[in-house]
Amino acid sequence: MKVLVLGAGVVGATTAYFLARDGHSVTVLDREPRPGMETSFANGAQISACHAKPWAGPGVPKQAFLWMFKPDAPLLFKPWRYDPSLWSWGLKFLRNCTSTREHVNMDRTLRIALYSRAVLKAVRQRTNIQYDQVTSGILHIYRNAESFEEGRTTAAKLQQLGLPQDILSPQECVGVDAALEHAAKTDLVGGLLSPEDESGDAHRFSIEISKLAIEHGATFDFGVTIKKLEAQNGRITRVITDRGEESCDAVVVALGSYSPRLAADLNLFLPIYPAKGYSISVEIENPSAAPTISITDESAFMVFSRLGNKMRVAGTAELAGWDLSINPVRVEPLRRNAASLFPDAASYQNLSPWCGLRPATPDSVPILGATPYENLFLNTGHGTLGWTMACGSGQVIADLIAGRTPEIDLEGLGLDRFSRP
Ligand SMILES: Cc1cc2nc3c(=O)[nH]c(=O)nc-3n(C[C@H](O)[C@H](O)[C@H](O)COP(=O)(O)OP(=O)(O)OC[C@H]3O[C@@H](n4cnc5c(N)ncnc54)[C@H](O)[C@@H]3O)c2cc1C
Repeated sequence: MKVLVLGAGVVGATTAYFLARDGHSVTVLDREPRPGMETSFANGAQISACHAKPWAGPGVPKQAFLWMFKPDAPLLFKPWRYDPSLWSWGLKFLRNCTSTREHVNMDRTLRIALYSRAVLKAVRQRTNIQYDQVTSGILHIYRNAESFEEGRTTAAKLQQLGLPQDILSPQECVGVDAALEHAAKTDLVGGLLSPEDESGDAHRFSIEISKLAIEHGATFDFGVTIKKLEAQNGRITRVITDRGEESCDAVVVALGSYSPRLAADLNLFLPIYPAKGYSISVEIENPSAAPTISITDESAFMVFSRLGNKMRVAGTAELAGWDLSINPVRVEPLRRNAASLFPDAASYQNLSPWCGLRPATPDSVPILGATPYENLFLNTGHGTLGWTMACGSGQVIADLIAGRTPEIDLEGLGLDRFSRP
């Protein structure tokens, strides 16, 4: 079968690998010169099933309102901007801010995240793919009693859904990562360890998995802008690009935050809005003072990952359209917090700031699988967890295209959940 994969971010590149392994004739189209150059470029690097708590939940509207006027707030939402797509997304988000919806959404996210983590491990074993991976878990740290209490409540919910975490004292946190010695002497109140979670460079993985896809016969066409999908009798017949047109038997949309634009021409309305986030990458000068395990600072809503001799610090979310300019006010909290937690790891003078647009859905669950067009499949809307969910999502799409039953239940993961009452 001739399958076109639209987008070579971590999601599209991984999907291409699974499809090519199945023996399809796979072509990946992307406007960038290499795989993983947009949102998959410098993210927080975590494979974090433990991060399955959705953004929408009880108490979030009040918190978001209080943050609205704080330019460096972890979540910045400006509803007064003229942006009907944001308002429509925001209303759907508000509907998900109940404890019942939070539980349902966490269950769905965890289902695909846990599966994806297992598929990634299998890919690693089969191929020996290298991407600065660290497989010793993710440590969540808490720097005030209130957030630690909230963390333990979430941990109890995750445990019920099949993800156990270990509760640690400040000294036990130092036992897991000696770089926390300084924090333990200042404000660290405790930690939660997710021993099976991991970290690694999503950009490097995108490049390496693309090479493996090419070994299985896939073709990557870079520097191509996709303009339109054409349909006839309920099937996609052609993809129109700035270089001409491509015929196809099946199409996978993996365009991250840009997926809704193309889908809208087909009367498919994908509730995906870009949630802009920032990272800094810092050259480590004193390796023993830098974290070796990936750490989430739950009190500051930031993640730290070790990628070889670099430390990646990522976080913050801003709902402000598709703008990719770097705002120093949003970068500074990342630098400040890294310097306060790991003061001797680096001088924090030469930072590489970056921003990307998380393709966020209002319920924090990706949009996976079939559409009303019989040969069009969606693999998008992965929000904060696209790297975590890339392998499982790619395998699911390959299973659907091959006519196999996916290994996980797809209930609540598809586009149809937004059309139900
Ligand atoms: C600050 C930050 C931290 C994050 N941390 C983590 C983390 O720790 N763990 C985690 O799991 N996730 C994390 N994420 C989320 C994760 O990075 C995303 O969910 C993931 O990268 C989405 O991958 P994607 O392939 O869907 O999208 P993208 O990587 O954006 O890929 C989409 C591709 O489509 C192409 N494209 C779009 N439109 C067109 C067009 N018209 N024509 C041609 N090509 C087109 C783009 O060039 C791009 O290559 C983070 C995100 C941010 C911003």
